[in-house]
Amino acid sequence: MGVTTLRSRFFSAVMAGVLLLGAVFCFPGVSVSAKESKLIAFTFDDGPGAYTSDLIDELDARGAKATFFMLGQNIGNYTDVVKKMHASGHELGNHSWDHPFLPDLSYSQAEKQIMDTNALLEEVDGNKYHIVRCPYGSSSDDVSAIVNTPLAYWSVDTSDWESRNADSVYNVIMENAYDGAIILAHDIYKTSVDGMLRGIDSLQDQGYECVTVSELLRRRGVKIDNGTTYFDALPGEGGGDLPAETPPEEPIGTVYVTASTALRQGTDKESAISGIVPAGSIASLLNKDDDKKYKVRSPWGEEGYLPVSSLQELEGDTPPITQAARKDEDITPPSDPVNRNMRTVSCTDIYNTEKGGIALGRLPAGSPVTLLEYTTDSVAMIKSASGTVAYVAMKFLEDAPAGAGRPKRDKDDKGVKVTPPQSGAAAIDLNLRKSPSSSSLIESIAVAGTQLTVTEEAKNNWCKVRTDDGREGYVQTYFVGTDYTAAKTTAEVNFRPEPNTKKDPIALLPSGTEVRILSKTKDWVLVMTSDQRTGYLSAEFVEAAKKADTDKT
Ligand code: ZN
Repeated sequence: MGVTTLRSRFFSAVMAGVLLLGAVFCFPGVSVSAKESKLIAFTFDDGPGAYTSDLIDELDARGAKATFFMLGQNIGNYTDVVKKMHASGHELGNHSWDHPFLPDLSYSQAEKQIMDTNALLEEVDGNKYHIVRCPYGSSSDDVSAIVNTPLAYWSVDTSDWESRNADSVYNVIMENAYDGAIILAHDIYKTSVDGMLRGIDSLQDQGYECVTVSELLRRRGVKIDNGTTYFDALPGEGGGDLPAETPPEEPIGTVYVTASTALRQGTDKESAISGIVPAGSIASLLNKDDDKKYKVRSPWGEEGYLPVSSLQELEGDTPPITQAARKDEDITPPSDPVNRNMRTVSCTDIYNTEKGGIALGRLPAGSPVTLLEYTTDSVAMIKSASGTVAYVAMKFLEDAPAGAGRPKRDKDDKGVKVTPPQSGAAAIDLNLRKSPSSSSLIESIAVAGTQLTVTEEAKNNWCKVRTDDGREGYVQTYFVGTDYTAAKTTAEVNFRPEPNTKKDPIALLPSGTEVRILSKTKDWVLVMTSDQRTGYLSAEFVEAAKKADTDKT
């Protein structure tokens, strides 16, 4: 049920060489020096079984962590044991459903073996995927593609299933253990459990720390590739050793940030800034060990120090709204956000007006924001996680559609006036909006082809429609009815928000871009691209523009 220790050491030496080439080591604030701690990972396969619960108690009494590679077919009989295992901080591993030789299975059979077991483990720890050890250590390309986690092999095989002898298990461990080893045994045999526990006692006396397989790889800084097999993790293998993960500090209170302030990594003035916490933010207070700077956790989860002078401790977490420091109070946010789950794509400043003005703070990359409104061509109104309403350049927001914030067409614009037909089919999948604005709440979707009856004409090319199944909402008039002319651009051409060369273009469309002509005048055509952006093109560069005589004016 395994390979010899010597052979697996050879593999792991090769693996270590490969891994070092691609190793990336990054852990801010911790120096990259080898720690004296010796690490070892004890693993138990084929359970859970009759001895697993007692084994967990014994491990816990020793402060040892282990990884259990369990069979799906056994988990249902020991659900409480698996819950205890998880609660005690041991790692839940996947050893297939019923121990087949996985390379012999079809992709879907192998997937069922892995994912059915994951599903039971997910009920315990909430994770969709769990580290996998293949039965007999035998993997395949299919298995590598399925697991979505590393594959755990071993470097010390106790051959416990063969010997069924605690002394033998213990002796193999003591003769072969080394810093970074992964030890294999099975918790379905009492002899294995006894021998492993004695091994843990002796190795702990020698200064070993018993950790899970994932913790071993993490602490050694090993670069993880899902579907790749790991045999052990030698000291320094990933470029350096990391400290044990410390649990997050419990907040001792809440503070209100009265002025936008740099979040520093240390208490002295020189220490690095990891972001700006905007005025008006609420942060968790972690400690007051320094009387000039308090340690806080920012609204986006980053820890650092802020000067006490710009903080106000709160009783609960209700902000003192009267604070003069708030510069965003004259921004009136719309009632219907466009997107409640948007993030910043890179670090960006936020301002109190759409043209810039006062910087209200800086959002680090990945900050969650609520997108309130596409204000102009390139600026959006957002609400930060700490509640600050501000303006931000749209290019810093993920998935902001090109041209989404283009200015509304001027009422006096003679270029295009589209009179909606009294009824027609939806030209594309349409958002039925609560009010005639592209930032208004979407109430439902009318898929392309849905029959629409115009019930009310509104201003600025919006009309109210009713679907044939009785839903109502506002859509742009030129999406009602399907008799549009297909065309292509005949040159590279600017795609503009308005029929006006003075306005910055939304995009440059390549020659040959397929568009649908929605409306036209002598010089301009209003078109929709295949990705459903609408805008204006100079008519001379659009094929068939002249034929689009059905000007709806
Ligand atoms: Zn097994």
